[in-house]
Amino acid sequence: MNENLQIQFLGGAETVTGSKILITYQGKRILIDCGLFQGVKKLRLLNWKAFPIPPESIDAILLTHAHLDHCGYIPVLVKNGFKGEIHCTYPTVDLAEIILKDSGKIQEEEAERANLYGYTRHKPAKPLYTIKDALRSMPLFIPHNYKEWVILGGDMKFCLRNSGHILGAAMIELKVGKKKLIFSGDIGREKNLLLHHRSAIKTADLVVMESTYGDRFHPTASSKEELRAIIQATYRKKGILFIPTFAVERAQELLFLLAELKASHEIPNLPIYLDSPMGVDATRVILKNSEWHKLDEPSALALSNVGHLISDAATSRKIVADKAPKIVLAGSGMITGGRILHYLNNHIQSPRNTILLVGFQAEGTRGRSLLEGATELKFFGQYHQVGAEVQVIHSLSAHADQRELLTWLRHFESPPKQLLLNHGELHQANALRVKIEHELGWNVQIATTDKVFTL
Ligand SMILES: [Zn+2]
Repeated sequence: MNENLQIQFLGGAETVTGSKILITYQGKRILIDCGLFQGVKKLRLLNWKAFPIPPESIDAILLTHAHLDHCGYIPVLVKNGFKGEIHCTYPTVDLAEIILKDSGKIQEEEAERANLYGYTRHKPAKPLYTIKDALRSMPLFIPHNYKEWVILGGDMKFCLRNSGHILGAAMIELKVGKKKLIFSGDIGREKNLLLHHRSAIKTADLVVMESTYGDRFHPTASSKEELRAIIQATYRKKGILFIPTFAVERAQELLFLLAELKASHEIPNLPIYLDSPMGVDATRVILKNSEWHKLDEPSALALSNVGHLISDAATSRKIVADKAPKIVLAGSGMITGGRILHYLNNHIQSPRNTILLVGFQAEGTRGRSLLEGATELKFFGQYHQVGAEVQVIHSLSAHADQRELLTWLRHFESPPKQLLLNHGELHQANALRVKIEHELGWNVQIATTDKVFTL
Protein backbone atom coordinates (compact mmCIF):
# COMPACT_ATOMS: atom_id res chain seq x y z
CA MET A 1 0.00 0.00 0.00
CA ASN A 2 1.35 3.42 -0.97
CA GLU A 3 1.58 5.64 2.12
CA ASN A 4 2.16 8.76 0.03
CA LEU A 5 -0.58 11.23 -0.60
CA GLN A 6 -1.27 11.11 -4.33
CA ILE A 7 -3.16 13.64 -6.43
CA GLN A 8 -4.28 12.72 -9.90
CA PHE A 9 -6.25 14.86 -12.37
CA LEU A 10 -8.80 12.80 -14.31
CA GLY A 11 -10.28 15.88 -16.01
CA GLY A 12 -10.40 19.65 -15.78
CA ALA A 13 -6.65 19.85 -16.44
CA GLU A 14 -5.52 21.85 -19.49
CA THR A 15 -9.23 22.30 -20.19
CA VAL A 16 -12.16 23.92 -18.37
CA THR A 17 -14.54 20.96 -18.27
CA GLY A 18 -14.68 17.45 -16.81
CA SER A 19 -13.25 18.46 -13.39
CA LYS A 20 -12.24 15.36 -11.40
CA ILE A 21 -9.35 15.12 -8.94
CA LEU A 22 -8.56 11.75 -7.36
CA ILE A 23 -6.91 11.79 -3.92
CA THR A 24 -5.38 8.51 -2.74
CA TYR A 25 -4.04 8.10 0.79
CA GLN A 26 -3.48 4.92 2.80
CA GLY A 27 -5.83 2.92 0.62
CA LYS A 28 -8.63 5.52 0.71
CA ARG A 29 -9.87 7.18 -2.44
CA ILE A 30 -11.61 10.55 -2.49
CA LEU A 31 -12.82 12.27 -5.64
CA ILE A 32 -12.97 16.07 -5.68
CA ASP A 33 -15.70 17.00 -8.19
CA CYS A 34 -17.11 14.67 -10.80
CA GLY A 35 -17.71 16.84 -13.84
CA LEU A 36 -18.86 16.23 -17.37
CA PHE A 37 -16.63 17.02 -20.33
CA GLN A 38 -18.37 19.58 -22.56
CA GLY A 39 -17.71 21.51 -25.75
CA VAL A 40 -16.00 20.05 -28.82
CA LYS A 41 -16.60 16.41 -29.77
CA LYS A 42 -13.09 15.26 -28.82
CA LEU A 43 -13.82 16.31 -25.23
CA ARG A 44 -17.39 15.00 -25.13
CA LEU A 45 -16.21 11.56 -26.23
CA LEU A 46 -14.13 11.35 -23.03
CA ASN A 47 -17.42 10.97 -21.11
CA TRP A 48 -17.88 7.60 -22.83
CA LYS A 49 -14.44 6.19 -21.96
CA ALA A 50 -14.18 3.59 -19.19
CA PHE A 51 -13.43 5.23 -15.83
CA PRO A 52 -9.75 4.56 -14.94
CA ILE A 53 -10.57 2.91 -11.59
CA PRO A 54 -13.59 0.87 -10.43
CA PRO A 55 -16.21 3.45 -9.30
CA GLU A 56 -17.09 1.26 -6.30
CA SER A 57 -13.51 1.69 -5.01
CA ILE A 58 -14.05 5.45 -4.43
CA ASP A 59 -14.95 6.15 -0.80
CA ALA A 60 -16.55 9.59 -1.21
CA ILE A 61 -17.02 12.52 -3.56
CA LEU A 62 -16.49 16.10 -2.35
CA LEU A 63 -18.35 18.47 -4.62
CA THR A 64 -17.37 22.15 -4.96
CA HIS A 65 -20.53 23.31 -6.75
CA ALA A 66 -23.47 22.37 -8.94
CA HIS A 67 -22.24 23.41 -12.41
CA LEU A 68 -22.37 20.53 -14.89
CA ASP A 69 -18.62 20.60 -15.56
CA HIS A 70 -18.17 19.78 -11.84
CA CYS A 71 -21.09 17.43 -11.04
CA GLY A 72 -22.42 16.21 -14.40
CA TYR A 73 -20.60 12.85 -14.43
CA ILE A 74 -22.00 11.72 -11.04
CA PRO A 75 -24.93 9.76 -12.55
CA VAL A 76 -22.49 7.78 -14.74
CA LEU A 77 -20.34 6.91 -11.74
CA VAL A 78 -23.41 5.90 -9.70
CA LYS A 79 -24.78 3.82 -12.59
CA ASN A 80 -21.43 2.02 -12.71
CA GLY A 81 -21.21 1.12 -9.05
CA PHE A 82 -20.25 4.16 -6.92
CA LYS A 83 -22.06 3.86 -3.59
CA GLY A 84 -20.25 6.37 -1.36
CA GLU A 85 -21.43 9.68 0.05
CA ILE A 86 -21.41 12.90 -1.98
CA HIS A 87 -20.61 15.86 0.28
CA CYS A 88 -21.48 19.43 -0.64
CA THR A 89 -23.41 22.46 0.66
CA TYR A 90 -27.21 22.66 1.08
CA PRO A 91 -27.83 24.88 -1.99
CA THR A 92 -25.53 22.65 -4.07
CA VAL A 93 -27.83 19.68 -3.41
CA ASP A 94 -30.85 21.72 -4.58
CA LEU A 95 -29.11 23.08 -7.68
CA ALA A 96 -27.42 19.76 -8.56
CA GLU A 97 -30.82 18.06 -8.66
CA ILE A 98 -32.14 20.67 -11.14
CA ILE A 99 -28.98 20.56 -13.27
CA LEU A 100 -28.54 16.76 -13.32
CA LYS A 101 -32.21 16.17 -14.19
CA ASP A 102 -31.91 18.62 -17.08
CA SER A 103 -28.67 16.98 -18.20
CA GLY A 104 -30.36 13.53 -18.15
CA LYS A 105 -33.14 14.96 -20.31
CA ILE A 106 -30.65 16.42 -22.80
CA GLN A 107 -28.76 13.07 -22.98
CA GLU A 108 -32.04 11.24 -23.65
CA GLU A 109 -33.00 13.73 -26.38
CA GLU A 110 -29.57 13.45 -28.02
CA ALA A 111 -29.82 9.66 -28.16
CA GLU A 112 -33.31 9.97 -29.65
CA ARG A 113 -32.03 12.37 -32.32
CA ALA A 114 -29.08 10.10 -33.11
CA ASN A 115 -31.47 7.20 -33.65
CA LEU A 116 -33.84 9.32 -35.73
CA TYR A 117 -31.15 10.58 -38.10
CA GLY A 118 -28.98 7.46 -37.92
CA TYR A 119 -25.75 9.24 -36.93
CA THR A 120 -24.69 6.61 -34.43
CA ARG A 121 -22.23 3.75 -34.43
CA HIS A 122 -24.15 2.07 -31.64
CA LYS A 123 -27.52 0.74 -32.64
CA PRO A 124 -29.66 1.85 -31.02
CA ALA A 125 -27.84 4.87 -29.55
CA LYS A 126 -28.09 4.98 -25.75
CA PRO A 127 -28.02 8.12 -23.60
CA LEU A 128 -24.92 8.64 -21.41
CA TYR A 129 -27.48 8.68 -18.61
CA THR A 130 -31.19 9.28 -18.16
CA ILE A 131 -33.34 11.50 -15.91
CA LYS A 132 -33.90 8.36 -13.80
CA ASP A 133 -30.13 7.83 -13.41
CA ALA A 134 -29.80 11.46 -12.31
CA LEU A 135 -32.54 11.04 -9.70
CA ARG A 136 -30.98 7.79 -8.45
CA SER A 137 -27.82 9.74 -7.55
CA MET A 138 -29.60 12.22 -5.30
CA PRO A 139 -29.98 10.03 -2.14
CA LEU A 140 -26.16 9.85 -1.92
CA PHE A 141 -25.88 13.63 -1.41
CA ILE A 142 -25.06 14.79 2.14
CA PRO A 143 -25.52 18.56 2.68
CA HIS A 144 -23.27 20.66 4.94
CA ASN A 145 -22.84 24.26 6.01
CA TYR A 146 -19.75 26.31 5.25
CA LYS A 147 -17.03 26.03 7.94
CA GLU A 148 -18.39 22.71 9.25
CA TRP A 149 -15.66 20.05 9.77
CA VAL A 150 -16.58 16.59 8.48
CA ILE A 151 -14.57 13.49 9.39
CA LEU A 152 -13.97 11.17 6.44
CA GLY A 153 -12.02 8.49 8.31
CA GLY A 154 -8.50 7.32 7.52
CA ASP A 155 -7.04 10.48 9.10
CA MET A 156 -8.88 12.73 6.66
CA LYS A 157 -11.35 15.52 7.30
CA PHE A 158 -12.65 18.42 5.26
CA CYS A 159 -14.48 21.71 5.51
CA LEU A 160 -16.27 23.77 2.82
CA ARG A 161 -15.57 27.49 2.45
CA ASN A 162 -17.40 30.10 0.39
CA SER A 163 -15.85 30.52 -3.07
CA GLY A 164 -18.24 33.32 -4.12
CA HIS A 165 -18.87 31.70 -7.53
CA ILE A 166 -22.53 30.59 -7.53
CA LEU A 167 -25.00 29.93 -4.71
CA GLY A 168 -23.50 27.35 -2.34
CA ALA A 169 -20.23 27.08 -4.28
CA ALA A 170 -17.32 26.04 -2.09
CA MET A 171 -13.57 25.76 -1.86
CA ILE A 172 -12.56 22.55 -0.13
CA GLU A 173 -10.11 22.51 2.73
CA LEU A 174 -8.95 18.91 3.11
CA LYS A 175 -6.75 17.85 6.02
CA VAL A 176 -4.83 14.62 5.45
CA GLY A 177 -2.77 13.75 8.50
CA LYS A 178 -0.90 16.99 9.21
CA LYS A 179 -1.13 18.24 5.64
CA LYS A 180 -3.56 20.93 4.54
CA LEU A 181 -4.83 20.87 0.96
CA ILE A 182 -6.97 23.57 -0.66
CA PHE A 183 -9.05 22.94 -3.76
CA SER A 184 -10.34 26.29 -4.97
CA GLY A 185 -13.14 24.99 -7.21
CA ASP A 186 -14.30 27.91 -9.33
CA ILE A 187 -13.36 31.22 -7.72
CA GLY A 188 -15.88 34.05 -7.89
CA ARG A 189 -15.43 37.78 -8.41
CA GLU A 190 -14.25 40.11 -5.71
CA LYS A 191 -17.65 41.75 -5.73
CA ASN A 192 -20.68 39.61 -6.50
CA LEU A 193 -24.20 40.99 -6.92
CA LEU A 194 -25.86 38.28 -4.86
CA LEU A 195 -23.25 36.39 -2.87
CA HIS A 196 -21.24 37.01 0.29
CA HIS A 197 -17.55 37.76 -0.14
CA ARG A 198 -15.42 34.74 -1.03
CA SER A 199 -13.23 33.24 1.71
CA ALA A 200 -9.59 34.16 2.11
CA ILE A 201 -7.18 31.30 2.85
CA LYS A 202 -3.96 32.02 4.72
CA THR A 203 -1.95 28.81 4.74
CA ALA A 204 -1.77 25.49 2.89
CA ASP A 205 0.68 22.78 1.93
CA LEU A 206 -0.88 22.32 -1.46
CA VAL A 207 -3.27 24.53 -3.43
CA VAL A 208 -5.09 23.48 -6.56
CA MET A 209 -6.42 26.64 -8.15
CA GLU A 210 -8.61 27.29 -11.18
CA SER A 211 -7.30 29.39 -14.08
CA THR A 212 -10.34 29.86 -16.35
CA TYR A 213 -9.59 33.55 -16.91
CA GLY A 214 -5.88 33.30 -16.14
CA ASP A 215 -5.04 35.55 -19.07
CA ARG A 216 -7.99 37.92 -18.99
CA PHE A 217 -9.33 41.06 -17.35
CA HIS A 218 -13.06 41.68 -17.02
CA PRO A 219 -14.25 45.13 -18.11
CA THR A 220 -15.01 47.41 -15.20
CA ALA A 221 -18.14 48.94 -16.79
CA SER A 222 -21.29 48.88 -14.65
CA SER A 223 -23.47 46.03 -15.91
CA LYS A 224 -26.54 47.80 -14.49
CA GLU A 225 -25.78 50.94 -16.48
CA GLU A 226 -25.17 48.94 -19.68
CA LEU A 227 -28.41 47.02 -19.20
CA ARG A 228 -30.36 50.25 -18.61
CA ALA A 229 -29.05 51.80 -21.83
CA ILE A 230 -29.88 48.70 -23.91
CA ILE A 231 -33.41 48.45 -22.46
CA GLN A 232 -34.10 52.11 -23.22
CA ALA A 233 -32.74 51.87 -26.76
CA THR A 234 -34.91 48.82 -27.47
CA TYR A 235 -37.93 50.58 -25.97
CA ARG A 236 -37.39 53.56 -28.27
CA LYS A 237 -37.55 51.15 -31.23
CA LYS A 238 -40.78 49.68 -29.74
CA GLY A 239 -39.03 46.33 -29.86
CA ILE A 240 -38.56 43.25 -27.69
CA LEU A 241 -35.36 42.65 -25.76
CA PHE A 242 -34.34 38.98 -25.76
CA ILE A 243 -31.70 37.88 -23.28
CA PRO A 244 -30.51 34.29 -23.76
CA THR A 245 -29.40 33.33 -20.28
CA PHE A 246 -27.94 30.55 -18.16
CA ALA A 247 -30.64 29.33 -15.78
CA VAL A 248 -28.54 29.24 -12.65
CA GLU A 249 -27.08 32.47 -11.21
CA ARG A 250 -26.96 34.61 -14.38
CA ALA A 251 -30.76 34.65 -14.70
CA GLN A 252 -31.09 35.65 -11.03
CA GLU A 253 -28.40 38.33 -11.35
CA LEU A 254 -30.34 39.82 -14.27
CA LEU A 255 -33.61 39.71 -12.32
CA PHE A 256 -31.83 41.45 -9.45
CA LEU A 257 -30.56 44.24 -11.74
CA LEU A 258 -33.98 44.56 -13.42
CA ALA A 259 -35.67 44.84 -10.00
CA GLU A 260 -33.28 47.63 -9.02
CA LEU A 261 -33.74 49.49 -12.31
CA LYS A 262 -37.50 49.18 -12.05
CA ALA A 263 -37.65 50.30 -8.42
CA SER A 264 -35.65 53.43 -9.22
CA HIS A 265 -37.78 54.09 -12.36
CA GLU A 266 -34.69 54.05 -14.56
CA ILE A 267 -36.40 51.81 -17.13
CA PRO A 268 -39.91 51.94 -18.61
CA ASN A 269 -42.53 49.77 -17.01
CA LEU A 270 -42.31 46.89 -19.50
CA PRO A 271 -43.44 43.34 -18.79
CA ILE A 272 -40.53 41.04 -17.93
CA TYR A 273 -40.57 37.26 -18.41
CA LEU A 274 -38.23 34.55 -17.24
CA ASP A 275 -39.26 31.78 -19.60
CA SER A 276 -37.18 28.83 -18.40
CA PRO A 277 -38.44 25.99 -16.19
CA MET A 278 -34.89 25.48 -14.92
CA GLY A 279 -34.38 29.20 -14.32
CA VAL A 280 -37.66 29.37 -12.39
CA ASP A 281 -36.57 26.42 -10.20
CA ALA A 282 -33.14 27.99 -9.60
CA THR A 283 -34.81 31.28 -8.60
CA ARG A 284 -36.85 29.36 -6.00
CA VAL A 285 -33.62 27.83 -4.65
CA ILE A 286 -32.32 31.37 -4.02
CA LEU A 287 -35.48 32.24 -2.08
CA LYS A 288 -35.32 29.02 -0.06
CA ASN A 289 -31.65 29.37 0.94
CA SER A 290 -31.84 32.88 2.36
CA GLU A 291 -28.74 32.65 4.57
CA TRP A 292 -26.54 31.61 1.61
CA HIS A 293 -26.67 34.98 -0.18
CA LYS A 294 -26.47 38.59 0.90
CA LEU A 295 -29.91 39.77 -0.22
CA ASP A 296 -32.28 40.84 2.51
CA GLU A 297 -35.85 39.58 2.35
CA PRO A 298 -37.34 42.56 0.44
CA SER A 299 -34.56 42.41 -2.19
CA ALA A 300 -34.95 38.64 -2.61
CA LEU A 301 -38.71 39.08 -3.01
CA ALA A 302 -38.22 41.94 -5.48
CA LEU A 303 -35.91 39.68 -7.51
CA SER A 304 -38.52 36.93 -7.72
CA ASN A 305 -41.45 39.31 -8.32
CA VAL A 306 -39.98 41.66 -10.92
CA GLY A 307 -40.93 39.35 -13.77
CA HIS A 308 -43.38 36.62 -14.64
CA LEU A 309 -41.78 33.25 -13.99
CA ILE A 310 -42.89 30.91 -16.77
CA SER A 311 -42.54 27.13 -16.57
CA ASP A 312 -45.43 25.76 -18.63
CA ALA A 313 -45.24 25.44 -22.40
CA ALA A 314 -48.76 26.80 -23.12
CA THR A 315 -48.04 30.19 -21.49
CA SER A 316 -44.65 30.25 -23.20
CA ARG A 317 -46.30 29.80 -26.63
CA LYS A 318 -48.61 32.75 -25.95
CA ILE A 319 -45.72 35.06 -25.12
CA VAL A 320 -43.71 33.81 -28.09
CA ALA A 321 -46.57 34.83 -30.44
CA ASP A 322 -46.98 38.32 -28.93
CA LYS A 323 -45.21 41.23 -30.67
CA ALA A 324 -45.61 43.89 -27.96
CA PRO A 325 -42.49 45.45 -26.37
CA LYS A 326 -41.18 43.43 -23.45
CA ILE A 327 -38.07 41.90 -21.90
CA VAL A 328 -37.66 38.13 -22.21
CA LEU A 329 -35.02 36.07 -20.41
CA ALA A 330 -34.92 32.51 -21.76
CA GLY A 331 -32.54 29.56 -21.94
CA SER A 332 -30.22 28.45 -23.20
CA GLY A 333 -27.44 30.94 -22.55
CA MET A 334 -25.51 30.14 -25.73
CA ILE A 335 -28.67 29.58 -27.87
CA THR A 336 -27.73 25.90 -28.29
CA GLY A 337 -31.35 24.91 -27.52
CA GLY A 338 -34.17 25.77 -25.18
CA ARG A 339 -37.07 28.18 -25.45
CA ILE A 340 -35.04 31.10 -26.74
CA LEU A 341 -35.09 29.38 -30.16
CA HIS A 342 -38.90 29.66 -30.34
CA TYR A 343 -38.66 33.39 -29.66
CA LEU A 344 -35.96 33.87 -32.27
CA ASN A 345 -37.96 31.81 -34.76
CA ASN A 346 -40.73 34.44 -34.57
CA HIS A 347 -38.76 37.61 -33.96
CA ILE A 348 -35.13 37.42 -35.14
CA GLN A 349 -35.92 39.06 -38.49
CA SER A 350 -37.25 42.32 -37.09
CA PRO A 351 -34.72 45.17 -36.62
CA ARG A 352 -37.00 46.55 -33.89
CA ASN A 353 -35.83 43.76 -31.59
CA THR A 354 -32.57 43.32 -29.73
CA ILE A 355 -30.73 40.16 -28.69
CA LEU A 356 -28.50 40.75 -25.67
CA LEU A 357 -25.68 38.28 -24.97
CA VAL A 358 -24.65 38.32 -21.31
CA GLY A 359 -22.45 35.28 -20.83
CA PHE A 360 -19.56 33.27 -22.23
CA GLN A 361 -20.30 32.03 -25.77
CA ALA A 362 -18.36 28.86 -26.59
CA GLU A 363 -16.99 28.19 -30.05
CA GLY A 364 -19.46 26.50 -32.38
CA THR A 365 -22.57 27.84 -30.62
CA ARG A 366 -25.20 30.11 -32.19
CA GLY A 367 -24.41 32.67 -29.49
CA ARG A 368 -20.81 32.81 -30.70
CA SER A 369 -22.00 33.20 -34.32
CA LEU A 370 -24.14 36.21 -33.32
CA LEU A 371 -21.22 37.65 -31.35
CA GLU A 372 -19.06 37.39 -34.46
CA GLY A 373 -21.64 39.23 -36.57
CA ALA A 374 -23.44 36.36 -38.35
CA THR A 375 -26.14 37.66 -40.72
CA GLU A 376 -28.09 34.41 -40.62
CA LEU A 377 -28.58 31.72 -38.00
CA LYS A 378 -29.54 28.10 -38.59
CA PHE A 379 -32.06 26.41 -36.33
CA PHE A 380 -35.20 24.27 -36.65
CA GLY A 381 -33.76 22.96 -39.94
CA GLN A 382 -33.55 26.33 -41.73
CA TYR A 383 -31.64 29.58 -41.99
CA HIS A 384 -33.06 32.75 -40.41
CA GLN A 385 -31.97 36.27 -41.40
CA VAL A 386 -30.64 38.18 -38.39
CA GLY A 387 -32.50 41.49 -38.56
CA ALA A 388 -32.47 42.09 -34.81
CA GLU A 389 -29.73 44.18 -33.27
CA VAL A 390 -27.14 42.19 -31.30
CA GLN A 391 -25.72 43.67 -28.10
CA VAL A 392 -23.25 42.29 -25.55
CA ILE A 393 -22.56 42.88 -21.87
CA HIS A 394 -19.13 41.50 -20.96
CA SER A 395 -18.99 42.65 -17.37
CA LEU A 396 -21.12 39.86 -15.87
CA SER A 397 -18.97 36.85 -15.07
CA ALA A 398 -19.01 34.28 -12.28
CA HIS A 399 -15.24 33.74 -12.53
CA ALA A 400 -12.45 35.87 -11.10
CA ASP A 401 -10.16 37.38 -13.74
CA GLN A 402 -6.37 37.37 -13.54
CA ARG A 403 -6.18 40.32 -11.17
CA GLU A 404 -8.88 38.88 -8.88
CA LEU A 405 -7.16 35.46 -8.82
CA LEU A 406 -3.92 37.13 -7.74
CA THR A 407 -5.75 39.08 -5.04
CA TRP A 408 -7.02 35.76 -3.67
CA LEU A 409 -3.46 34.37 -3.57
CA ARG A 410 -2.12 37.47 -1.83
CA HIS A 411 -4.10 36.48 1.31
CA PHE A 412 -1.65 33.62 1.88
CA GLU A 413 0.78 34.51 4.65
CA SER A 414 3.42 32.16 3.25
CA PRO A 415 3.63 30.46 -0.15
CA PRO A 416 2.05 27.00 -0.32
CA LYS A 417 4.62 24.24 -0.87
CA GLN A 418 2.88 23.34 -4.10
CA LEU A 419 0.56 25.36 -6.29
CA LEU A 420 -1.12 23.52 -9.15
CA LEU A 421 -3.24 25.31 -11.75
CA ASN A 422 -6.20 23.46 -13.23
CA HIS A 423 -9.54 24.32 -14.88
CA GLY A 424 -8.14 26.46 -17.70
CA GLU A 425 -7.04 26.10 -21.30
CA LEU A 426 -3.26 25.68 -21.45
CA HIS A 427 -2.59 29.27 -22.60
CA GLN A 428 -4.72 30.64 -19.73
CA ALA A 429 -3.01 28.46 -17.13
CA ASN A 430 0.40 29.39 -18.55
CA ALA A 431 -0.31 33.12 -18.53
CA LEU A 432 -1.39 32.89 -14.90
CA ARG A 433 1.65 30.75 -13.99
CA VAL A 434 4.04 33.34 -15.45
CA LYS A 435 2.20 36.18 -13.69
CA ILE A 436 2.27 34.43 -10.29
CA GLU A 437 5.98 33.60 -10.66
CA HIS A 438 6.68 37.22 -11.60
CA GLU A 439 4.45 38.94 -9.00
CA LEU A 440 4.76 36.58 -6.03
CA GLY A 441 7.90 34.59 -6.81
CA TRP A 442 6.12 31.30 -6.06
CA ASN A 443 6.77 27.97 -7.66
CA VAL A 444 3.81 27.02 -9.88
CA GLN A 445 2.96 23.87 -11.83
CA ILE A 446 0.24 23.24 -14.36
CA ALA A 447 -1.97 20.24 -13.64
CA THR A 448 -1.93 17.54 -16.31
CA THR A 449 -3.81 14.26 -16.60
CA ASP A 450 -0.71 12.19 -17.46
CA LYS A 451 1.13 12.66 -14.18
CA VAL A 452 0.58 11.65 -10.55
CA PHE A 453 1.45 14.46 -8.13
CA THR A 454 2.62 13.47 -4.63
CA LEU A 455 2.84 15.33 -1.37
ZN1 LIG B 1 -18.63 26.80 -12.10
